[in-house]
Amino acid sequence: MNKNYDVLVIGGGINGCSTAYQLAKRKKQVAVLEKTKVGAEASSAAAGMLGAQSEIKENSPFFDFAKSSRDMFPDLIPELEEKSGISVSFVQNGMLKIADTMAEKEHLEEMYRFQKKEGEQVEWLSSEQVEQIDPSIQGEHFGALYIRGDGQVKAPELTKAYARAAAVEGADFYEYTPVLQLIQKNGSAIGVETPGGSFYADQVILAGGAWSRMIPSLGEQFPELVPVKGECVSLRVSAPVLEKTVHASDFYIVPKPGGSVIIGATEREGEMGKEVSASAVQHLLSKGFSLVPKLQDASWETAWAGVRPQTLDGRPYLGQTHINGLWLAAGHYRNGILLSALTGKWMADLIEGKAADSEWLAAFSPQRNLSEKEEPIVGIND
Ligand SMILES: Cc1cc2nc3c(=O)[nH]c(=O)nc-3n(C[C@H](O)[C@H](O)[C@H](O)COP(=O)(O)OP(=O)(O)OC[C@H]3O[C@@H](n4cnc5c(N)ncnc54)[C@H](O)[C@@H]3O)c2cc1C
Repeated sequence: MNKNYDVLVIGGGINGCSTAYQLAKRKKQVAVLEKTKVGAEASSAAAGMLGAQSEIKENSPFFDFAKSSRDMFPDLIPELEEKSGISVSFVQNGMLKIADTMAEKEHLEEMYRFQKKEGEQVEWLSSEQVEQIDPSIQGEHFGALYIRGDGQVKAPELTKAYARAAAVEGADFYEYTPVLQLIQKNGSAIGVETPGGSFYADQVILAGGAWSRMIPSLGEQFPELVPVKGECVSLRVSAPVLEKTVHASDFYIVPKPGGSVIIGATEREGEMGKEVSASAVQHLLSKGFSLVPKLQDASWETAWAGVRPQTLDGRPYLGQTHINGLWLAAGHYRNGILLSALTGKWMADLIEGKAADSEWLAAFSPQRNLSEKEEPIVGIND
């Protein structure tokens, strides 16, 4: 089988599918090559928070990119739902960032002052006000940062919606098609090899999440990605317990339309695999119960794990690699659902030579100087 396309996308996670959607809309001939099924990895493990403001204390290209991506969802979601026929359960019920320690209170107050100064929509609530807004929050706390407009989606559904909408726009999807090797000619990427044959294209975009570096012969200059496994549990409530997403210093609770409540997530750096440890289940349940005791009446639903792709400085790699014609869209760590909207558009702009914002070009370039280590950006979202 020999196939020719304008662009090949390696990886059918949320960022590969969003990129394929934007390219197909621009009439590019696109193929997505996925080693198992669309959304099989991190993108279906995510809690689906779209929080661009919940960890930011200073201006940066990352903050700017995250806010711009968040602001795309209110228009993008109806478009995807209509084209795909898939509901992604987008709600904008807000997020409470709970100060569950005094140190966390100081940290959140600093964030509050910065964001207020920047004109962001953010409020500071005393612990009494928190309990008035959501009476089921009972554990010890010292107030909360309230981000009224924050939204969330069902991440597995959003991933499928991007994929289905991309297919409607003409993209081809090849599931159970692992890319084994990059095909290069005179130092440029011109295609890929799979067990089913070769595919050729003018441009190849690698969106393989935490697995992106595992394709042989990418070379020493290919940037580092660190896998960080995360485990979540989900409970079922018969009547709504929480209305808003609640984010404490090392866990969160996300109430989903339909009665599921997700409690997440662990951070196991360097680990891959989908097993869920008994200790993770115990840890997450005890954290959740201590803040929202009513959750003890919920019934057990399920537990799962996924692998976040982390970069050395916490910013995703979005751009041209050291191999001509090979682009990278990976390393979204804890924010890949939030960043998916703009990742797709940005990658399509790059491929078309239309990406003019030089601040983002340099900040997210896979070829940036990673020897100058920054404080990693810990998750905005999970
Ligand atoms: C527990 C947990 C909770 C999270 N919660 C949130 C949240 O609330 N909000 C948020 O914004 N983010 C969240 N995240 C982060 C988010 O899930 C990731 O950043 C995002 O899913 C990464 O998407 P991706 O498309 O880059 O990678 P993935 O979803 O991992 O997709 C990569 C795909 O590439 C395929 N692939 C890899 N190598 C090959 C190959 N050689 N050939 C073919 N296919 C290949 C894989 O099979 C996979 O399907 C969470 C993550 C975890 C684990």
